[in-house]
Amino acid sequence: MTVGGAPPDAPPAVEGAPRATTPAAFGHLIGGEQRPAKDGRTFESRNPARRSDVVGVFARGSPADVDAAVAAASAAFEGWRGTPWPRRAEIILAASLLLEQRKEELARLMTREMGKVLTEARGDVQEAIDMGKFIAGEGRRAYGETVPSELRDKWAMTMRQPFGVVGCITPWNFPVAIPSWKVFPAIMAGNAVVLKPAEDTPLCALRFVETLQDAGLPAGVVNIVFGYGEDAGDALVRHPDVKAVYFTGSVATGRLVSEVCGRMLKKCSLELGGKNAIVVLADADLELAVDGALWGAFGTSGQRCTASSRLIVERPVAAEFTDRLVGRASQLRLGYGLDAGVDVGPVINETQLQRIHGYTGVGRDEGAVLALGGEIATGNGLDDGWFYRPTVFTEVRPEMRIAQEEIFGPTTAVIPVESLDAALQAANSTHYGLSLSVYTNDLRKAFRAIHELHAGIVYVNAPTIGAEIQLPFGGTRDTGNGHREAGGHVLDEFSEWKSIYIDYSGRLQRAQIDTE
Ligand code: NAD
Repeated sequence: MTVGGAPPDAPPAVEGAPRATTPAAFGHLIGGEQRPAKDGRTFESRNPARRSDVVGVFARGSPADVDAAVAAASAAFEGWRGTPWPRRAEIILAASLLLEQRKEELARLMTREMGKVLTEARGDVQEAIDMGKFIAGEGRRAYGETVPSELRDKWAMTMRQPFGVVGCITPWNFPVAIPSWKVFPAIMAGNAVVLKPAEDTPLCALRFVETLQDAGLPAGVVNIVFGYGEDAGDALVRHPDVKAVYFTGSVATGRLVSEVCGRMLKKCSLELGGKNAIVVLADADLELAVDGALWGAFGTSGQRCTASSRLIVERPVAAEFTDRLVGRASQLRLGYGLDAGVDVGPVINETQLQRIHGYTGVGRDEGAVLALGGEIATGNGLDDGWFYRPTVFTEVRPEMRIAQEEIFGPTTAVIPVESLDAALQAANSTHYGLSLSVYTNDLRKAFRAIHELHAGIVYVNAPTIGAEIQLPFGGTRDTGNGHREAGGHVLDEFSEWKSIYIDYSGRLQRAQIDTE
């Protein structure tokens, strides 16, 4: 395997455009260089809207490749840890500014590699830019505390310290934003990183990390091992020299990761799934709620951890809300996200397509009414991609599987309820707790909902998607394990405290005993 970009016989790469020639080959990024897999294995990344378009051929990681990446990160760690915080921040800021310059190129690649429509892909890159700028500010803050000692002539204070080599494992649905949410704060705090991006979006991850290198990041501070979870991801989690693991993905995988980290006493931060709900009360602005539901349920083809996959509507407005939603959703145009006028792109792969379709059968069998969609989309240029029609079920009950389980596709469930109390109860009735929203013009009801909705994120008069990086992101219950990414406390996740006592009395002073 030749690695390092396009093979010599390939024409210049035009990212964003389907390619008919030999696909480019890429190695793991280890110590600043691309390296083939030690066992020579590879895998392909394909355009989900044009399956015949191979985006690239990538080294497929094994435990031996993870060893090499962790060794490179360990070698780079001491130098990076010793680099002053403000200097580290300058590199992160420079990377953010480079991402700004490369935003369009990267967004087009993203649409090609994972399918989200171009406007959303631009938003994904923008989120990384925002995170980089935000976290770079910590380079001159990263405050510790200075507190009084109980003893005379004694000083007490704290400072942050990095964990060492940390592992970041990311999904494909935000292929630049999510790596940036982990990698930027990790390196800001002085850690060295091994990133294992999702197997469906390796090139987006590579381009992101290359931007850091181009901004001056020393070789080995961020390394990438491509490949599948069961070999590369698992080896990274189990590696004894990896001191902390930051994982975003499904609950099932999160449990496995957490079990290993628990046994090995590693820090483990989990951002997992969601079964988010929009509550629409009878007094709400219905058109606004329909706008929100459309964007929340069908944006990124419903493949967001925060997707509005449940629409809990007070009975008096349920029929009108559903009619308007179905009317608008039926107009959404499916297609390749680089083409003008396309509203909804493909889903990520064949497995996911079949899984989504399986849930249509589940909903029917449970007695929900299929009001729209429910089928794999074909014809009109869709045959070479994995497309699913926007799907709306009505007359769904909160306990049905389609209202409880994460589908991760363009399927949403309208759940009619009789009251605000019933709406709140239904909203809180899943084992997830990521994002919940309420549409109402009644201030008292809005505040009650804010108070009683059990989730990491609550919106009022906006759908369940739309988080900004300056607030914490994450969920309650099975959506995670109590950690939050982003926000003003983000460094707490990526660094450990060191408490420092300096006794300048010149004599032994015993805490709790020699106090006056
Ligand atoms: P996934 O769990 O299948 O994979 C996520 C990552 O974990 C991938 O890189 C995969 O290769 C790796 N992996 C798989 N098995 C592993 C193992 N045994 N050990 C270590 N790593 C392993 O999830 P996915 O299908 O890629 O992503 C969709 C899921 O991610 C959904 O449940 C979605 O809700 C969730 N998600 C959550 C957030 C959040 O912030 N809460 C954001 C985006 C996506």
